[in-house]
Amino acid sequence: MTALKKDIRSLDKEALRTFFEQQGDRAFRADQVYQWLWQKGVHDFEAMTNLSVSTRELLTEHFTINHIAIDRQQRSSDGTIKNAVRLHDGLVVESVLIPTATRTTACVSSQVGCSLDCTFCATALLKRMRNLHADEIFDQVKAIDQQSRLYYQRPLSNIVFMGMGEPLMNYPNVLKAIDKITQPQGLGMSPKRITVSTSGVPKMIRKLADEPLNFKLALSLHSARQAVREQLMPFAQKFPLSEIEEALQYWYAQKRKKTTLEYIVWQGINDQQEDIDALVAFCRRVPTKVNLIQYNAIGDPRFKQAPHSVIAAYQSQLEAARITVTIRHSRGQDIDAACGQLANRSTTQTSA
Ligand code: SAH
Repeated sequence: MTALKKDIRSLDKEALRTFFEQQGDRAFRADQVYQWLWQKGVHDFEAMTNLSVSTRELLTEHFTINHIAIDRQQRSSDGTIKNAVRLHDGLVVESVLIPTATRTTACVSSQVGCSLDCTFCATALLKRMRNLHADEIFDQVKAIDQQSRLYYQRPLSNIVFMGMGEPLMNYPNVLKAIDKITQPQGLGMSPKRITVSTSGVPKMIRKLADEPLNFKLALSLHSARQAVREQLMPFAQKFPLSEIEEALQYWYAQKRKKTTLEYIVWQGINDQQEDIDALVAFCRRVPTKVNLIQYNAIGDPRFKQAPHSVIAAYQSQLEAARITVTIRHSRGQDIDAACGQLANRSTTQTSA
């Protein structure tokens, strides 16, 4: 029986060095291999052309490179591309390329399904099947970078962790992926162009605030009233707004960067003056800016976006309180690629 080969990307550079030394080879080979894996993003030892044939054979003998495959690409009329990403064990997640006039943003997944239970989100219906590995997150970014170069003649410029899953429930792998995406021997992207979005896990927000990397933080708030938020996001019972508020204050104290609040206004749910008052009060206590985002219907009759007059009331009252507010429109709705719509509708979820 042959032992299962180890995925080479689960080794850090030090472990790679040790491997080569143990094989009687020179440790600097590790740098070459590392570069192929994390800068060029190759998925095959044969592609590592500056290594000798015998080194490539040695690697093939000991390791595999588990990697994603893009099973299906769907293109929206607005240029958005949704990828069905097949993982090495057959599970599928989705990632999205969002082009604007000047940028290309990758929206990547961090879990297969999601740990949380937001009532208005299609991904929540899938339940969490497993966390993605750092290389599976990295591969989504690399694939979208290649698509951006191919279809839009420019490299990827921004990354948002707003695909499937709760990034802070897969903390170590998300951080490892960001490390590979940002370090010069990796993709070399600026952390300032990366946004991690969370539904609000206070302990992990604090931990994130202590990390040296300076990426941005977004919080899916949707209501600044605890009881209303618990209706929308039942897990919020465990993570009260008072603790989230303190965690975001800590984030600001450490990073000096405002958190972006994601907020949908629904008819009959958070469309009253007291909802606006609560949000304004929250923003006064925590340095934030607000994105009023469009609700993308997922077929549940309980949820209907509030009329524009209510959204305009939110906007003007936030502005009056000197809080930066932007109204965001969704992209890629015609292919179910917009926020909250990622649910593997175009593929069958099978595990090997
Ligand atoms: N779990 C993280 C990362 C997912 S981001 C988080 O919640 O922040 C996905 C974003 O889309 C979140 O802001 C989420 O609240 C929002 N969203 C979920 N369902 C949606 C829907 N049906 N329409 C619009 N936005 C939705």
